[in-house]
Amino acid sequence: MPTAWRVLVGVIFLGFVAVRTLAQAPEPVAPLPTLQALRWDESVLHIVASGKVTFHTFTLREPLRVVIDISPCTLPQETVESEGDTPTAVERLRWAQFKEGVVRVVLGLRENTQYALSTAASGNEAMLALGSSPAEENRKPRPATSSAKPATLPPPPAELVRMEWEHDKDGARLRMTLSRKVLVRLRPLKEGYSTLLELPQVKPGTDLPADWSVKHPLIEEVQFSPDEKGVRSALLVRTTRAASLSVEYDKQQPVITLAVNRPRNAHGKISEKHIVIDPGHGGTSKGAVGRDKDSVVYEKDINLAIAQRVQALLQKEKATVTMTREDDSTVDLYDRPKLANEKGADFFISIHCDSTPAPNSASGTTTYYHASDPDGRALAQAIQKHLAAVTGLPNRGAQTDTAIYQSGFAVLRRSEMPAVLIEVAYINNDKDRAKLKDPKFQQKVAEAIVAGLKAYIEGEKGSQVAQQDVKIRPASDEKDTVPPVQIPEQL
Ligand SMILES: [Zn+2]
Repeated sequence: MPTAWRVLVGVIFLGFVAVRTLAQAPEPVAPLPTLQALRWDESVLHIVASGKVTFHTFTLREPLRVVIDISPCTLPQETVESEGDTPTAVERLRWAQFKEGVVRVVLGLRENTQYALSTAASGNEAMLALGSSPAEENRKPRPATSSAKPATLPPPPAELVRMEWEHDKDGARLRMTLSRKVLVRLRPLKEGYSTLLELPQVKPGTDLPADWSVKHPLIEEVQFSPDEKGVRSALLVRTTRAASLSVEYDKQQPVITLAVNRPRNAHGKISEKHIVIDPGHGGTSKGAVGRDKDSVVYEKDINLAIAQRVQALLQKEKATVTMTREDDSTVDLYDRPKLANEKGADFFISIHCDSTPAPNSASGTTTYYHASDPDGRALAQAIQKHLAAVTGLPNRGAQTDTAIYQSGFAVLRRSEMPAVLIEVAYINNDKDRAKLKDPKFQQKVAEAIVAGLKAYIEGEKGSQVAQQDVKIRPASDEKDTVPPVQIPEQL
């Protein structure tokens, strides 16, 4: 992702004013920051404004509501819709222009739900982290604070009481019963189709059986890595192909279900699919820039060269391909996912090159998916797996786009189908750039992108379907195989 792209997307957060200028839209200039996004990431509500604002929070009772007044702020002309899955603790989420210069967000909560509000240093985002509504804690909801970190009093770890698998031909579900409600999170790992279910604040219960087994063609291996202290317990799930992993919280019981399914549009053949290929930037948007002794390399040209090779390979596979640009023309950022949505495409694949402020300070390949979208994550894992095998560059993994921008990338956020954004390599790294310019490398990358997409749709070629019983086993004596678990800070 080039500096220019970063600047462009960054500008979106800095103001609609700038976006409108860049998009050459005729709307009048908005004088105040606007409400940009309301996004659920598991149990954390991100409230994002386009500029520096103040968040003022208070609580109303009967029914319990958390009110967040944002000022100075207005609603944008386009409708804001909340993104992500609404947690079960939330009965209702509303927002409105409360009065001139003040946007009010009201969160209706089930009684006794705990929460903590923190504000990002940039001053344009607040994060409201919801806790459980535990029966054992009859305290009043914690008042929101405006401090930089959630005022969390860590409760004792929850005990994992029971784990049971259920499965049918479409997928497998692991039902985990706990002693109280907790928040968990899914994180893709770099190696193949491995995903970590992080279980902070969970320790194994004393009567938890020693092993469980599941037999399902989607699942290759499951490892439970318990932490007696209840800080870093985790479950590693390795699947035989790109799979959609998602977590559901039971409304009443402290029960979490991990669902492992075939992802969206992962049926049939690649020849039946419609794929939108998006060569990043173009025309006046040059993207990132790489400088050799006697020449300058623009990201937009590399992106197009690779995209055209992907297009040719997909056409050879008899797939339907739509390009967001065929040549060096300028295409608006929002028109790219819009085109894919209007065409009813099955996939959206955006191709970019990465860049850093200082040359030669980073190297490697990354594939991004939007927020915690399980299908986008699966597609990113499939493409990244195949890319990492051929680039000869560091594998930076499949990553959520919210790690880069709080609202993610516009082209992924707006796409209604499984969507990824690939950062093939760093254009301002000498080694990476030498590869990016090489037609042979471009072809290898294009082949890997198509191979990854094909593996997502049709399954891994020649992969052995695991038919033996798969054990979940304590991983305490196999520390080398269990990656370190990172506990998200807001938990
Ligand atoms: Zn870019």
